[in-house]
Amino acid sequence: MANKGILTVISGFSGAGKGTIMKELVARFPYFLSVSATTRKPRKGEIDGSDYFFHTRDSFEAMIQKEELIEWAEYVGNYYGTPREAVEKQLMEGKDVLLEIEMQGGMLVKEQFPDALLLFITPPNADELKRRLIGRGTETPEEINKRLSHACEEASYMKSYDYIVVNDELEKAVLDVHMMIQHQHCKVKNCGEQIQAIENDLLQFAKGDY
Ligand code: 5GP
Repeated sequence: MANKGILTVISGFSGAGKGTIMKELVARFPYFLSVSATTRKPRKGEIDGSDYFFHTRDSFEAMIQKEELIEWAEYVGNYYGTPREAVEKQLMEGKDVLLEIEMQGGMLVKEQFPDALLLFITPPNADELKRRLIGRGTETPEEINKRLSHACEEASYMKSYDYIVVNDELEKAVLDVHMMIQHQHCKVKNCGEQIQAIENDLLQFAKGDY
């Protein structure tokens, strides 16, 4: 059987470009991107089962009761959660799994999966974050302040992540994330089967059986 896949949590400020990085990663490499469940309404063009599994509050709460979610959080008045079955199946089959979730969820994943890799995506500095948040120029000053104070809260989680990925240049950020995940496969604790196989073979050789 293959070694287990690497579970990676990807979080970051809104406006950090997480979504684009995820799209590039799954388009280029064989990652499994978990589809979350949510109670928020679908946006234009979003497809049930592909962008999210869209639920009512009742059916979402039933999933919580039945422990069908690895983690869940309430974000801006809606539930969001990671379905357990698909993620665990893919990991067992040796596939690397990506979770694009907010930080409270990230912390819960780390509790249950201590070997999970936690990546935090950020623009190069606060000025750039402000520029991207203000972005389209459609928000009122109050809304901009709300977004910035939310970013302040989000920043407090940065220290709990394993790596910070600066998204200054998309191509570099995509390759940085890919490299960080692939490095996890080389950690001794993730190479149990290779180590065992080499030890077994060498033992046979040492007995003169070569
Ligand atoms: P949006 O509504 O813009 O698609 O997502 C809002 C926030 O919810 C984003 O920060 C996104 O990363 C987060 N999110 C999406 N799925 C999940 C999930 O399954 N669990 C948690 N904790 N957060 C999620």
